[in-house]
Amino acid sequence: MKFFYADSQDLVDPNFNFELESRDPSRIRQRDDRYAHELFTTPCYDGLLVSKGIVDGIGVGSRYTLAQRHRLYRLGVHEFFRARHLPVMGDCGAFTYVNEKTPPFSVDEVIRYYVDCDFDMAVSVDHVILAYQPEWDAGGIPEDVQYRQDITLELAAQFLDRHRTSKLRFEPVGVAQGWSPASYARAVEALQRMGYTYIAIGGMVPLKTTAIIACLAAINDVRKPGTRLHLLGVTRCEHINEFARYGVASFDSTSPLRQAFKDDKDNYYSPSNLNYTAIRIPQIEANARLMRSIRAGVVSQERARKLEKECLAAMRAYALRTCSLDGTLNVLLEYEQVYDGKKNHEAAYRATLADRPWEACECDVCRDLGYHVILFRGAERNRRRGFHNLWVFYRRVHEELAKELRLVGSAS
Ligand SMILES: [Zn+2]
Repeated sequence: MKFFYADSQDLVDPNFNFELESRDPSRIRQRDDRYAHELFTTPCYDGLLVSKGIVDGIGVGSRYTLAQRHRLYRLGVHEFFRARHLPVMGDCGAFTYVNEKTPPFSVDEVIRYYVDCDFDMAVSVDHVILAYQPEWDAGGIPEDVQYRQDITLELAAQFLDRHRTSKLRFEPVGVAQGWSPASYARAVEALQRMGYTYIAIGGMVPLKTTAIIACLAAINDVRKPGTRLHLLGVTRCEHINEFARYGVASFDSTSPLRQAFKDDKDNYYSPSNLNYTAIRIPQIEANARLMRSIRAGVVSQERARKLEKECLAAMRAYALRTCSLDGTLNVLLEYEQVYDGKKNHEAAYRATLADRPWEACECDVCRDLGYHVILFRGAERNRRRGFHNLWVFYRRVHEELAKELRLVGSAS
């Protein structure tokens, strides 16, 4: 099974100075900054997924500048991402236009994007159904929901037709959208009749694992032996072997990266399968809540500045084993009271500090950064921790898959 990372221009500055928190003045982002796959000496994903919605900035502002977008179209994905060795899949990024009545792209427009960017695999135009309601199968499917499934299938038929008549290089992937196991199975059957052998299952992101498994089981009853599945958006990897048994050949995810700085507690994945909370030492100017308190006169800027510096010094000393755990923790919690009086990360920080997980990780990020990787502070550290998570996640996925292979091997 292949893990595709859904990129949204996530790069880091390889020359960032973590002690001084400064950059090389001659840095040119596009030339000098690095993607996750350029930072590690061993793989951190099997492929990339690049969504048209993200590139074009549908719904939210684009992470791509106009110049970057032009470069992507001109050079193609392999050159642009400096990833000649990785398969790259394209899709529309249906979540970016989930609130629209109809998809904002025509089939021709999307095909032009796939051809210009030279994708290896490309997903047909789809429209997400954001509901899981198996009881609708007994009658009463909302019109809008049925329309979303119908338009997704209609666009998949047009997409495959254009692919055949123009003899395009990429492998076409049809999308199944549904609201229940039976409705997903019907969509997969329809796509197989059209001629698809690689089918993406959409709308799974908010579903519980039991619901995903129920859908895959129903799909499996109609799945032809040669049909491979791709799961669009997966957040966990515990059930990866079950997914594999139901024909899932690939999936994509952004969770390992996002959790590094969006999650309240699971910020750092450890190779021993535990997740740790990163140590928050916010930069005063970058923390809107703290700045408000300072401006309102509730917090003294001097005191905040002093605590911020003391936290950084305490973590440096703790990493060098010249400051005790409790001494370090006290400073961190005193600062936390100042920038966010409602939170208390004492137990979580104690676990992180006691286990020192950054010392045990063998990835290039942790080897380079040391304790800086565990600091929740600024994009350069936070994104690198996300890259580290990708690296660990990739290993977790492939270790899970290898376990099953060993079981199969020992049984036969
Ligand atoms: Zn690491």
